[in-house]
Amino acid sequence: MDAHTSNIESIDITKIREEFPILLRKISGQPIAYFDNAATSQKPLSVINAISEYYETINSNVHRGIHTLSEEATEAYENSREKVRRFINAQSSGEIVFTKGTTDGINLVASSFGTNVVGEGDEVIISEMEHHSNLVPWQNLCESRRAKLKYIPVNDKGELMMDEFRTMINEKTKLISVVYVSNSLGTVNPISEIIEIAHSFNIPVLVDAAQAAPHMKIDVSTLDCDFLAFSGHKMYGPTGIGILYGKEKHLESMPPYQFGGEMIKSVTYDNTVFNVLPYKFEAGTPNIAGAIVLGTAVDFMERLGHENIHNREMELLAHANKLFSEIGDIRIIGTAENKTSLISFIINGIHPYDTGSILDNFGIAVRTGFHCTQPLIEQRFKLPGTVRASFAFYNTFEEIDRLAAGIRKVKSMLL
Ligand code: PMP
Repeated sequence: MDAHTSNIESIDITKIREEFPILLRKISGQPIAYFDNAATSQKPLSVINAISEYYETINSNVHRGIHTLSEEATEAYENSREKVRRFINAQSSGEIVFTKGTTDGINLVASSFGTNVVGEGDEVIISEMEHHSNLVPWQNLCESRRAKLKYIPVNDKGELMMDEFRTMINEKTKLISVVYVSNSLGTVNPISEIIEIAHSFNIPVLVDAAQAAPHMKIDVSTLDCDFLAFSGHKMYGPTGIGILYGKEKHLESMPPYQFGGEMIKSVTYDNTVFNVLPYKFEAGTPNIAGAIVLGTAVDFMERLGHENIHNREMELLAHANKLFSEIGDIRIIGTAENKTSLISFIINGIHPYDTGSILDNFGIAVRTGFHCTQPLIEQRFKLPGTVRASFAFYNTFEEIDRLAAGIRKVKSMLL
C-alpha cells in the first residue's frame, strides 16, 4: 500500500522509538532525553538507510546522463519533488524548489523577488519573533534598497499583536514575511489571517515554516501563501536539504538567484537562456541524496499521520506544563493559546547556560541562549537567554519527569 494512505491509528511509542537508534545512546551514563528537536530532529532508520541505499545503488548526477544510473537518480529526485508537492498540496512541481534549507529559501526570495519589488522608500513587514534567517536577509535588503523594515509587535504572552499589524500596512508595503511557528516561544501564528489581510492589499506573503513542517499539516493552496520555506532536518530528514515553495507567477517573474549549470536551457558566448521552473533556481549539482531522502522523511511522517503526531505532542506538552507549574521559581516565556510542543523558560536567578549544562550532566539535552532570535529575547523580553525544551512525538512522559526532576536539582544546587 502507498505510504501516503497507510496512516497508523495511533503511535506505539515503544515501537516507534526502536526506529530511532540514537535514542539508545547514553550521555553521562544516563539514557539520553533529547529535547532539542526544534534545532534538529533525530532520524528514523528508514531515512538513515535510504542515504546509504542511494549511494550503494543509484549514485549518479541528475538531469545530465542518458545512462541508466543517471536516469534512475533523476527519477528518484523528481519523484521526491512530487512527494513534497503533494505533502504541502502545491499546484505544480515547478513550484517546488530544492534548497539547502529554510535560510537558503528565504535568501533566495530576498535576493531575487525582494530586489525586484522593493525600492527606495518602500516597506517590508516582518515580526519581532523572527528567526535571524527571516530577519537578517530583510534587514540587508532594506538597507541596500533604502527601504524600511517594520516589525509586528509581540505581546507579553508571545503572540503577534494583530491590531497593530493592521495599522502597519500602507501603500508602501511591498512584502510581508512571517514565521508560522516561533522556534523560541512555540507560538503558532494566525498565518491564514495574516495572508488574508495582506492579500486584501495585494501584498505577497512569505511564510517561514521551519517549525511548522514537523508539527502540522501544511497546505499552501488553502493558505494561499506566495512563498513558503522549510528544512528537511527538522522533520526527520537529512541536513542540507530544504524546500522553497513559490507561486508559479512569482517564480516565473523572478531572476535566478545563482548562475551556472542545471539552471540554463542554452548558452552562447554572448548570452544565456534560463531553464524552466524549478530548475532556473537549482544551479549546480544539487544535494541529490538529501533531496531523495527528504521524500523518505515525508513517507515517514505520512505513515505516522499528522493527527497522531499532533495529539501525542500535545499530551507531552500538557504533561510538561503541569509538572513545570508545580516546581516554582520558573518563568515560562511564550504562553500563547496556540502553541506547539515547546517550552522556553528561565529559572529565576539562574543563568540559562548553567541550567543547560547541569541538565546535560543528567543526560538531558536542552538548548540555551537566544535561539537565533536575539532581538526577541534580548530587546523584547529583556532576558540574557532562555532554556528551551522542545518535544517530538518520540519523547516520553518519563523523560519529561526526568526534566522536571533535573530542574529541581538545578534549583537546589544553585539557589
Ligand atoms: N526559521 C525558524 C523558525 C527556525 O527555527 C530555523 C531553524 N532553527 C530556521 C528558520 C532556519 O532553518 P535552517 O537553519 O534549517 O536554514
